[in-house]
Amino acid sequence: MTRSGFEPDLETALRLDRQDPLREFRQRFLLPHRPDGTPLVYLLGNSLGPQPASTAAYAQAILTSWAERGVHGHFEGPEPWLDYPGPLTEITAEIVGARAGEVVLMNALTVNIHLMLASFYRASPTRFKILVEEQPFPSDRYALASHLRLRLQDPAEAILECRSRPGERLLRTEDIERLLEQEGQSIALVFFGGVNYYTGQAFDLERITRAAHRAGAIAAFDLAHAAGNLPLRLHDWEVDVALWCSYKYLNAGPGSPGGVFVHERHHGSADLPRLAGWWGEKPEKRFAMTAEFEPAAGAAGWQLSNPPVLMLAAYRASMEIFHEAGMEPLRAKSLLLTGYLESLLDRLGDDVFTIITPRNPEERGAQLSLLMKRNGKRVSDALTEAGFLTDWRDPDVIRVAPVPLTTTFREVFDFANTFAELIGRNLP
Ligand SMILES: *Cc1c(COP(=O)(O)O)cnc(C)c1O
Repeated sequence: MTRSGFEPDLETALRLDRQDPLREFRQRFLLPHRPDGTPLVYLLGNSLGPQPASTAAYAQAILTSWAERGVHGHFEGPEPWLDYPGPLTEITAEIVGARAGEVVLMNALTVNIHLMLASFYRASPTRFKILVEEQPFPSDRYALASHLRLRLQDPAEAILECRSRPGERLLRTEDIERLLEQEGQSIALVFFGGVNYYTGQAFDLERITRAAHRAGAIAAFDLAHAAGNLPLRLHDWEVDVALWCSYKYLNAGPGSPGGVFVHERHHGSADLPRLAGWWGEKPEKRFAMTAEFEPAAGAAGWQLSNPPVLMLAAYRASMEIFHEAGMEPLRAKSLLLTGYLESLLDRLGDDVFTIITPRNPEERGAQLSLLMKRNGKRVSDALTEAGFLTDWRDPDVIRVAPVPLTTTFREVFDFANTFAELIGRNLP
């Protein structure tokens, strides 16, 4: 038996698959394979979720309407494009624990970081800092630093990185809270990931939000690696702002629009500055072509441009699946699946690698990050060669993400065996 009580044999993997209430969902995806049709084991749903089988038909319907109706496709046909985002926004709101008016689908994640900073980063001479997690994703760093320069702040002074303790790699919530207590008067905004892309650590968004608010700061989160991965309750946690992309765990396809959450309590703030465009105008006035901008109610008022309907077709294919599966059952399977992977890896000892993702399942999502002590890049390449798609993140991590919609226990079992062989050991 492994530490967490899984027998490390094939029979156990097969039994877990038979008992999996979500096992049928895998059939609804087109999973990556070799050119000759040989299946690959896709453990990169954290990077780009696989394609739902219904995507092409939904996209074709948009293309057909465009061909047949031209601009009238916005208003006419079986599915006028104007009505397309509504139901998708509602399902997305369910997934992140928001009210429908608090969510909008628009642009891409990094663009949205700038737009939200324009509204919610409000600096004063004494309160101008942005508190970030240790090692945020580079795009977020670039966005924050360049935005700060635009606002005439020095990023070196204004970005405050929350550090882990010496000898540790993960942040402790109490340390984040303490920092906010001590430095809070100078912090305008807390900008944290929901799950760190490198370590896989999931942060306690509720506690961080509370600590941010006690300090008088706005709480904003980048949920790129959390949306569709962890159950979220953004409204109840009183998060101010959140943003995410839809092509990772949410399977909405490369370049699909990002999601933005703005808490209800900010909707009436008439004094919030914002960068505006015609699609954020009140819908009843949008085509009136007036000179004065009046934002639509809720998060929709932050839209600039008309939405990419073709990409929303892919988004729709995925949202139907999420809606049917439900975040709670997905999370239940995810806990089992990732726990199973962890238990198989734990049998291999820690000479060659160590799992740096938190061991407490509450502090992580699907992903495990394996810090390689030697030969890391070579093992990573060899895994890909052997048909197990994982990724390498410099300087020393292999990221493995078994996702509950598509990954089987058998695949996790096979992955662990291949990994064991590659690092020069054999499972008994
Ligand atoms: C994936 C990811 C991004 C990517 O940004 P795009 O604007 O969608 O290209 C940004 N930030 C984080 C934390 C990510 O994980």
